Amino acid sequence: MRHAFLTDEQIDARALAHRRGLGFRDDRAIDFAKLMARLKARYPNFTYERVADDSLGEAEAQWDSQAKRLLITDTVFDGAERGEGRALMAVAHAVGHALLGHEGTFNRSPAGSPAERFSPKLRSMEYQARRYAAAFLIPDTPAVRALDATGLSRRYHVSMSAAIVRHSELRSGENASVSPSRPGGVAG
Ligand SMILES: [Zn+2]
Repeated sequence: MRHAFLTDEQIDARALAHRRGLGFRDDRAIDFAKLMARLKARYPNFTYERVADDSLGEAEAQWDSQAKRLLITDTVFDGAERGEGRALMAVAHAVGHALLGHEGTFNRSPAGSPAERFSPKLRSMEYQARRYAAAFLIPDTPAVRALDATGLSRRYHVSMSAAIVRHSELRSGENASVSPSRPGGVAG
């Protein structure tokens, strides 16, 4: 599959469709164990493995599109099982690469990958996965837009900083839909 440009709205819409398709209610947080089980049920080639913390270098998770395998480090796996925001975000990010059809091996590191600086294509895929992860954990629906960042953080088990970012994303999408004169933002 070719890497496609997607607008933020398209990424949000796909994340919402996938979230619903996997049987998650719009008003509930993603449950990690259910997510893994449902991905396996939906995509028979999909596998995931728990690996030792240092086995991926700096990375906390890795998606390999050829092997269709998601590797998750012990710390992230345990954190995601407990519903911790940072860990869930790392998992959702890797799931984003998987369900957006990105081809390659993607390491999810806290600091981002150095290769991103040199490859616009990779940068674009990483941007999409980041946006997707937030949209997968916090769906864009009218009811969700009514919540403040604290409400988003509590309900969807994301960190406060991630909730603040997502809250402003949802707000700017709202403005876009009510004011058509807003300049179309197709940033490079
Ligand atoms: Zn990534």
